[in-house]
Amino acid sequence: MKIAIMCAMEEELKPLLNYFKKYEVENYANNKYYKVTYENKELVLAYSKIGKVFSSLTASTLIQKFGCGTLLFSGVAGAINPNLRIGDIIIASKLSQHDLDITAFGHPHGFVPEGNVFTHTTAKLNDLAKSVAHKHNINLKIGSIATGDQFIADKDKKEWIEKTFEADALEMEGASVSVVCDALKVPYLILRSISDTADGDASFDFDEFLEKSSKISADFLTKIVDNL
Ligand code: SAH
Repeated sequence: MKIAIMCAMEEELKPLLNYFKKYEVENYANNKYYKVTYENKELVLAYSKIGKVFSSLTASTLIQKFGCGTLLFSGVAGAINPNLRIGDIIIASKLSQHDLDITAFGHPHGFVPEGNVFTHTTAKLNDLAKSVAHKHNINLKIGSIATGDQFIADKDKKEWIEKTFEADALEMEGASVSVVCDALKVPYLILRSISDTADGDASFDFDEFLEKSSKISADFLTKIVDNL
């Protein structure tokens, strides 16, 4: 069974390509897909570009065109929960779209008819991540992640997302990837390392910690692949 490894940005994918070293590149739908054979496992890696639309396209391509039967996402996120510090890692137990709003029709935030406010990630992969963390003495948090097509660098907006979606962290791709994986019945894991705290300093911190936090997330993800 092929395993998809997905990121949003080149900086997030780079440490993974460095780790696996040898790959073959296939161009498809304005993107590059990196095919790797690693310890008898077939992997397909890609970064989608930022946001819900690009990440949906890439997740769907990894599953439907490249035939991946499991999807692992690695990247960075802004922290909401004050217990999450820059460099910490979190996996999503559930995800929501904080910018999805048809409340004018009486629906709750994040809801559209025939959809759900929350998608729930795959328990088996989350349990595997927890046991890998335990084995390597890594402090792994599990929590709610909110996704939207906005870089959040504002205390009030962050508090609103926390209140409305019980969110511990926020980013721009997790929920869209989860909708695709749910619909196509593919088990998936959304892993993020904290790059900023989504407030006034967020863009400054993000630029400073992107590389370091991307590497932390990628390193943990490779340990999961070793145990798959
Ligand atoms: N610096 C980049 C833009 C980064 S957008 C550029 O100029 O091109 C932020 C990316 O990191 C997204 O992929 C998102 O998933 C994640 N992220 C990290 N912190 C975030 C925050 N505070 N708000 C939203 N997304 C965040």
